[in-house]
Amino acid sequence: MEDFDFVKRTVLIVEDEPVNRSLLVSMLEGKYEILQASDGLEAMRYIENGEDISLILLDLLMPNMNGYEVLRVLGEKKLLVQIPVIVLTSNTSAEVESLNLGAIDFIPKPYVPEVIRARVRRIIQMSEDAAALRSVGKDPLTGLFSPRFFFRRVERIERYVSNRAMDAMVINVNNFHLINNLYGRASGDDVLLSLAEGLKSELDACLGVACREHGDNFYVYLEHQSNPDDLLGRIADSVRGREGIRTLRLRMGVYPKVDHSVSMEERFIRAEHACQTIRNDYTRRVAVYDADMFRKEAFAHNLLENFDDALAHGQFQVWYQPQYDIRGQEPVLSGAEALVRWIHPQYGMILPDDFIPLFEANGLIARLDHLVWHTAASQVRQWRDDFGSTLPVSVNVSRISIRDPRFEEDLLDIARNSGIQTRDLVLEITESAYADSMGQLVDTVNILRGNGFPVEMDDFGSGYSSLNMLTTLPMDALKVDMKLIRNITEKEKDLQVLTLIFDIARSLELAVVAEGVETQAQYNLLKQMGCDFIQGYYFSRPVLPDEFRHFLRRQQ
Ligand code: C2E
Ligand code: CA
Ligand code: CA
Repeated sequence: MEDFDFVKRTVLIVEDEPVNRSLLVSMLEGKYEILQASDGLEAMRYIENGEDISLILLDLLMPNMNGYEVLRVLGEKKLLVQIPVIVLTSNTSAEVESLNLGAIDFIPKPYVPEVIRARVRRIIQMSEDAAALRSVGKDPLTGLFSPRFFFRRVERIERYVSNRAMDAMVINVNNFHLINNLYGRASGDDVLLSLAEGLKSELDACLGVACREHGDNFYVYLEHQSNPDDLLGRIADSVRGREGIRTLRLRMGVYPKVDHSVSMEERFIRAEHACQTIRNDYTRRVAVYDADMFRKEAFAHNLLENFDDALAHGQFQVWYQPQYDIRGQEPVLSGAEALVRWIHPQYGMILPDDFIPLFEANGLIARLDHLVWHTAASQVRQWRDDFGSTLPVSVNVSRISIRDPRFEEDLLDIARNSGIQTRDLVLEITESAYADSMGQLVDTVNILRGNGFPVEMDDFGSGYSSLNMLTTLPMDALKVDMKLIRNITEKEKDLQVLTLIFDIARSLELAVVAEGVETQAQYNLLKQMGCDFIQGYYFSRPVLPDEFRHFLRRQQ
């Protein structure tokens, strides 16, 4: 210990002979703080008072409570590990017995000052070194392994049981900060300590190790548990019982029957991951790692990471699906919807349903929408240049893009820079966006329409709309969701709903676009009902601009 000579340690001298006592005091005074006791009872009082004692010098033969009894009590209280005891004796047979009782050394009487001073110093140093060593591997609060030792320990278990079914688990206290705030930090510590103890007693019964990874997060590695929920229940009960906190809730993530070829860190990442999934779920306390879920999240994560690259390298393509006006004798090509696809270098073609929701959640969608609008507008211009006539294109507008303060400006810039009329860029705004923020959207849509952009409500009837919305919201057309179209030829009820929608649209003088039309039967029925426009596989799937030229050529 480097600081050995700077910090004064406390030595407790327990000796009934006043002369011997003052002899010892005179030898140690100055170097140590001295406490004196004339019998075992007095000594125990100092110890129970929590005095920070570095060493006890203990006489064996004393009235009231003798040295042997002191040793026994200290042993029972497991205090001998913390406070070393040197026995003072002139009787060699007593030496053996006191060593058996846990004394660390003995000093024969009569006292030789140099011997006393040297032993006291050496023993204190040794015991402090040992304590320091012990504490490195242990979490001081819970007595569980430190994470570093835990992983070492687990690796060792792994070598012995490499073919046994093992589980990696993460246990966490829900809203632990609330416990700290409501009951105080000391209670928080108590909860962690009793959790650790509950854990230890469970682990005693099976091959297992635990550590406190940090804060209120515990790692456990143990033999496979067929019922982890029960295990967690027992631990939670033991904590609740001891702490009296009835609302205490634990959650657990399990990576069961670990794949032994996966690294130890990774096993706990998986358990951790499972645990995360029920973070705010009050109906479940145990979540089991699921490879499928993990793959999906890894996929989503990769897509987000690759977004900038994809933009920079032109991996987003805009495809076009033709729309036909079916009011006359023959269907007439009347427009196209621009639909984005991601040609990913690793995953191949990805459809928008796999990435649009992701980009909406992360705000990236505004940049993608912008790219699609720009591409679509340029395409309108290109076709006009090539074919001499203008075909309007519909683009999708995400709810996030609408909130962009530059939204209207951007669209006007795009139309202007591409040299197209605003009426040839149709904006599809999904029904759920209308439902989200009616008030604000009404203003925005009014501005857009004022600037000449036609606005359609997309996915109408997919679930959010009330018919009342239709009468209050400004728009030019209603695009009926394909779910409503799918079964009209078989389900009378669906046909009735659709009929009602057509009636309302007609009374509001809104055009109706039906999308997802796949069959001749659907087409006939819709035509008969007075549907204005149709989009769907019946005419064509979305295609690349090159292929789309056929539709334009046929129209000439
Ligand atoms: P949406 O706006 O409802 O687009 C129609 C979807 O139906 C398209 O799917 C289209 O390929 C598909 N579809 C067309 N006809 C049929 C048919 O007859 N049968 C069936 N089963 N499906 C048909 P896609 O291209 O996968 O797009 C899915 C959704 O992704 C779109 O739904 C739209 O909400 C969104 N989306 C696509 N491109 C963009 C974009 O550039 N920006 C934004 N914000 N969203 C986009
Ligand atoms: Ca659409
Ligand atoms: Ca739609």
